[in-house]
Amino acid sequence: MTENNHDINNNTVKIDFICSVCKTEKRLEFPKIYITQSKELTTTSISKGLVCKHQFQAIVDKNYQIRGYKINTDICPECGYRTENNTQRFYCEKCGTDILKLFQKNFHES
Ligand SMILES: [Zn+2]
Ligand SMILES: [Zn+2]
Repeated sequence: MTENNHDINNNTVKIDFICSVCKTEKRLEFPKIYITQSKELTTTSISKGLVCKHQFQAIVDKNYQIRGYKINTDICPECGYRTENNTQRFYCEKCGTDILKLFQKNFHES
């Protein structure tokens, strides 16, 4: 009944993601079609809990290599709260995290 399982496995790719905030590394499995369908680069949203307790965006190229990570200052990486109509302020209204500082601090550490 589950003979298709083998084909499904061949159509997925494992990509190593590293959280920009806490540097947690985790390998996640993606359907290849999800990446090959799009243009040169795919921006993937990593939900809270997939890699670590933060949420972030990763840019993946057609060879399934990570080109970079995107800082989304609209969404708090700590609690996932989305700050709307408020592009001038980069802190979370819910938990008070300074989102820009959080990323800058960790980018400079390495
Ligand atoms: Zn993290
Ligand atoms: Zn927050």
